Amino acid sequence: MATDHVDVLIVGAGLSGVGAACHLLRSCPGTTYALLEARDAIGGTWDLFRYPGVRSDSDMFTLGYSFKPWTSPKAIADGDSIRDYVRETAREYGVDRHIRFRHRVVSAAWDSAPARWTVRAHREDTGETVELTCGFLYVCAGYYRYDAGYTPPLPGVDRYAGRLVHPQHWPADLDHTGKRVVVIGSGATAVTLVPAMAERAAHVTMLQRSPTYVLALPSRDRLADALRRRLPATAVYPLVRWKNVLLATATYQLSRRAPNLVRKLLRRGATGRLPAGYDVDRHFSPRYDPWDQRLCIVPDGDLFAAVQAGRASVVTDTIDTFTEHGLRLTSGEELPADVVVTATGLNLLALGGMTLNVDGADVDLARTVAYKGMMLSGVPNLAMTIGYTNASWTLKADLVATYVCRLLRHLDRTGQQIVTPQPPPDDDRVPLIDLRSGYVLRSLDALPKQGRSAPWRLYQNYPRDVLLMRHGRLTDEGVRFSRAGSPVRSASRA
Ligand SMILES: Cc1cc2nc3c(=O)[nH]c(=O)nc-3n(C[C@H](O)[C@H](O)[C@H](O)COP(=O)(O)OP(=O)(O)OC[C@H]3O[C@@H](n4cnc5c(N)ncnc54)[C@H](O)[C@@H]3O)c2cc1C
Repeated sequence: MATDHVDVLIVGAGLSGVGAACHLLRSCPGTTYALLEARDAIGGTWDLFRYPGVRSDSDMFTLGYSFKPWTSPKAIADGDSIRDYVRETAREYGVDRHIRFRHRVVSAAWDSAPARWTVRAHREDTGETVELTCGFLYVCAGYYRYDAGYTPPLPGVDRYAGRLVHPQHWPADLDHTGKRVVVIGSGATAVTLVPAMAERAAHVTMLQRSPTYVLALPSRDRLADALRRRLPATAVYPLVRWKNVLLATATYQLSRRAPNLVRKLLRRGATGRLPAGYDVDRHFSPRYDPWDQRLCIVPDGDLFAAVQAGRASVVTDTIDTFTEHGLRLTSGEELPADVVVTATGLNLLALGGMTLNVDGADVDLARTVAYKGMMLSGVPNLAMTIGYTNASWTLKADLVATYVCRLLRHLDRTGQQIVTPQPPPDDDRVPLIDLRSGYVLRSLDALPKQGRSAPWRLYQNYPRDVLLMRHGRLTDEGVRFSRAGSPVRSASRA
């Protein structure tokens, strides 16, 4: 078993992992690094998901990296363009030459004496186990299981003779032209799939148990279009990025402070795009407040347009049973279907499923507390990227990378090797993710927690995090710096 050593080992070569490596190259030149990637491709989510119409649901001025302007005219981009952008970035910075593909990280063990992680990876191609050591472990493994999407129990599904597919495993040979399609779900994936499939299907029905807030936004950014005529991309990009950050932050804050007003505005927006007399309350007015769950964005109102044109419809009901030719609903209605898509979500997974051990003690993730939303109490020299729930993922990923670089430079400057977050002084813990969506609630128990106040509290607020992570103090009460050989507080006691 060969062992290599690098200063920083990055797990995952998706949007975050590639971005993390670029930040290292830009801000900590000379740092040795490698990326271990379980799959055989760069791009993570944007390579995995291949369903019709797959696209971002946030704008690319904030989903793009801070250091690489998004120059395509579309502000809401398709999956292929995002994958190409990540790959191009990896090529431009030479990061692609540092990726070891088909290496699935399964465990990491920290030893305080040499101040090192020993990381074990399973080689998916040869079946071997390989070991690498590193001074800092940087986990950019996303937030969900790659091998299986979430499918709830589907009564009577064995009888169904049509095609049943999950968006996470889209069959390349599926041709839905002229077919009757039912999409089960009401989240971002369902609202993307319905108008995209409706272009060629005989009809698409979105079957939802309960409605979601759906907001139509332009697929192009007017300010960006105007500025691009006068300014270079490097000047336009940060301006539009900040405009979008401030707009999204203001919308989120308004939703939390005046939910009834935002509820009315969203309802009015939907009503204006739907046929006269449409039952907006039944199909587009959720019982929960805006941003209790993620808001769904539809570019140029494409979902509403498909309903307006009669190519798609929304049914709010529950499944009684699958039949041979489709579904029977609790109301008694029958939905004939040649293809049923279960857009029923993801299975959350922390740290890409790897196990952690610190100085001989196994780490129980559920007992750790996130520090600044990016490190774990009692776990030294480890950072993880988890994006915002209410804004683009990359905004946080960029800040985490900036912070990791600051930490590495601080360790270097002070002749220390170890940085270990501490647990909050009180026992008050809250769930790490503040959404009430099903996929979040199913997994909360297994995830790290957050504290009630900074630096253990996640405010889901980018401008605030810019101050904290780009300009805030590195040495606060939530973290301890030390030299190699000094044992860190055990995670199991954190
Ligand atoms: C369909 C869909 C649409 C989305 N749209 C948006 C959007 O519009 N805006 C937004 O902000 N967010 C969106 N998200 C969230 C999205 O995941 C992030 O935008 C972003 O792609 C996350 O990048 P990442 O690199 O952190 O994780 P991922 O894209 O998940 O990449 C993680 C990488 O790590 C690898 N990996 C995982 N575990 C291991 C392991 N143990 N060992 C080695 N490698 C491992 C994976 O193979 C993968 O390549 C969307 C998510 C989905 C599923």
